[in-house]
Amino acid sequence: MNRVYNFSAGPSILPESVLAKAAEEMLNYNGTGMSVMEMSHRSKAYTSIIENAESLLRKLMKIDDSYSILFVQGGASTQFSMIPMNLFSKYKKADFINTGNWSKKAISEAKLFGAANVAASSEDSNFTYIPEEYNLSQEVDYVHITSNNTLEGTRFVTFPDTGNVPLVADMSSEIMSREMDVNKFGLIYAGAQKNLGPAGLTIVIVKTDLIGKHLENTPTMLRYETHAKEKSLYNTPPCYSIYVAGLVFKWLDDMGGVKTIEKINNEKAAILYNFLDESKMFLNKVNRKDRSLMNVPFTAPTDELNEKFIKEAEQAGLCTLRGHRLIGGMRASIYNAMPVEGVIKLVDFMKKFELENK
Ligand code: PMP
Repeated sequence: MNRVYNFSAGPSILPESVLAKAAEEMLNYNGTGMSVMEMSHRSKAYTSIIENAESLLRKLMKIDDSYSILFVQGGASTQFSMIPMNLFSKYKKADFINTGNWSKKAISEAKLFGAANVAASSEDSNFTYIPEEYNLSQEVDYVHITSNNTLEGTRFVTFPDTGNVPLVADMSSEIMSREMDVNKFGLIYAGAQKNLGPAGLTIVIVKTDLIGKHLENTPTMLRYETHAKEKSLYNTPPCYSIYVAGLVFKWLDDMGGVKTIEKINNEKAAILYNFLDESKMFLNKVNRKDRSLMNVPFTAPTDELNEKFIKEAEQAGLCTLRGHRLIGGMRASIYNAMPVEGVIKLVDFMKKFELENK
């Protein structure tokens, strides 16, 4: 079929069975005689698609009724400003743990609406670790973290204890990749285009009692209240992306849920990191205990070797391994949908490349 192993950071690989199911249902969804792309978001068929997606999401992440689930648009980047607009209810101030490029963007957007205090940062060492000490205040509306840092390849293995202050997490690049207690968070958000489905859909999981306290001039579309009240159908939602995300949720549920995929993700990451630790050519600069299970940056000793590696890997069907332009080198994103065989093939290729280029 000529499919490659796609290590893209996002949009990224989707489970093949999900793509096949979407293809099978493309022309005639469930006897409706039309594709999901063509149907009204208020039709009976679509209502069951969106409700089913929400209920599988709740099941997979064990989300109880005290949380609202919002299917919105605008990417995680829009949440950088929607979050302060909606949560700056008392102090108009938030604490941020700055662990990389995406944290920095969240910080600068929050500053448009109030104060963003950096309670800890790993910028001093190019974001190669996750700070352990934080200077958190009780007089802030929330604490924000980027739970997995897509560019830098780090993650919070455990999450900060913020007491009564809501913890807000950007989980764009790791949502549903490991088990976690949603009850620790006031709000979790993620763009769908890495672990959940196609671009265009952003998922917000928010404690319902945090909703409705938005800043006075918050536009209707940017209020969580609007989307919560209308069950994400205030306006036309990203219909097709929600449908495909629902298929991804079903794929994950059928295989045993987040617990099962976490085991597989640990296995995949171990294969790659174990090789990197042995290699005399390739280097991963991240503090070992903070290593991401999803995004693995690495470099060869010279720019020439990096370029040669990327080119030859592509020829071998191992694609999109170029690192982010801010970081350089290579990056293998090994999200939920990347099979173990893909990582084994990558490591075999790296071994061969190392031998050939000694
Ligand atoms: N946060 C993180 C952790 C990300 O990885 C990304 C996208 N790569 C974003 C935010 C921005 O997401 P979007 O493109 O959906 O706005």
